[in-house]
Amino acid sequence: MTRVRRPLRALFLGAPGAGKGTQVSRLLRDFKGIPAISSGDLLRDNIQKGTKVGKEAATIIKDGGLVPDSTMVSLIGTELQNRGWLNSESSWLLDGFPRTVSQAPALDSILNKSGAALNLVVELKVPEEVILDRIENRWVHAKSGRIYNLTFNPPKVPGKDDITGEPLTKRPDDNPEVFKQRLDKYREMTLPLLDYYGEKGLLHSFQGETSDIIYPQIKKFVGTNFAE
Ligand code: AMP
Repeated sequence: MTRVRRPLRALFLGAPGAGKGTQVSRLLRDFKGIPAISSGDLLRDNIQKGTKVGKEAATIIKDGGLVPDSTMVSLIGTELQNRGWLNSESSWLLDGFPRTVSQAPALDSILNKSGAALNLVVELKVPEEVILDRIENRWVHAKSGRIYNLTFNPPKVPGKDDITGEPLTKRPDDNPEVFKQRLDKYREMTLPLLDYYGEKGLLHSFQGETSDIIYPQIKKFVGTNFAE
C-alpha cells in the first residue's frame, strides 16, 4: 500500500457501466488514506433507509433519470462536511458526482471556500458495445457496493459475495431499457463536463476495453503525481 505525498482530490467521469466504482475501489485498495464517496451508493442507502431524499430519488433512479441538482449538491455538500473533508489536507475520491454542468460549479464553490479544490478529474473511456455487454453481466452485493462481472471478475462462489457469502443481486436500473435511458442522460448531461474540467487543466482520460487494462494506467498516474 502506498501513501499519498500530496493530497489527492479526484472525481471520476465515465458512462454508466464504464467501471468508475471498480477503479475507485482498486485505488482505495492500493493507496493509503484515500476514502471515497459514491453518489449512487449514497442515494441507494437513502432509499433503503426511507429518508426524504431516498423517497425523492427512488422513482427517478428506477426510470434512469437524474436526481435534481439542488438535492444532489446539498446531499454531497453535507456528506463532505460531515466527514471532515473540507480542508486542504484531505484526500478523497468522488464517484458519480458531479454529473451535470450545474453540479460542477456548485461543487467548486463548496470546495474553493475551504481550500479543498479538486486536483484531478479522471475520465474513463470505454467503447459503448463493451459497456452494454458488461451491464448484462454485472451483479452486485447491495450492502457493501461490491461489484462483480461474470466474465472479468466473477465471484468465487457463483451468485455469492466473496466476503460475506450473501446472495448477489442485479441493480434494478441495469435492465436494457433503463440502461439506454441512463446512457442518453450521460451523453446529454455529463459529457459537457469534460469541456468544463478540460478548460481547467484537470482532465486526464484513460482508455481501454476492460477495467484490468485501464487500472494500471490510473495507478501509475496517481503513483507518479501524488504518491511517495
Ligand atoms: P450510479 O450508481 O452512479 O450509476 O448512480 C445511480 C443513479 O443514481 C443514477 O442513474 C442517477 O439516477 C442517480 N445519481 C447518482 N449520482 C447522481 C448525480 N450526481 N446527479 C443526479 N443523479 C445521480
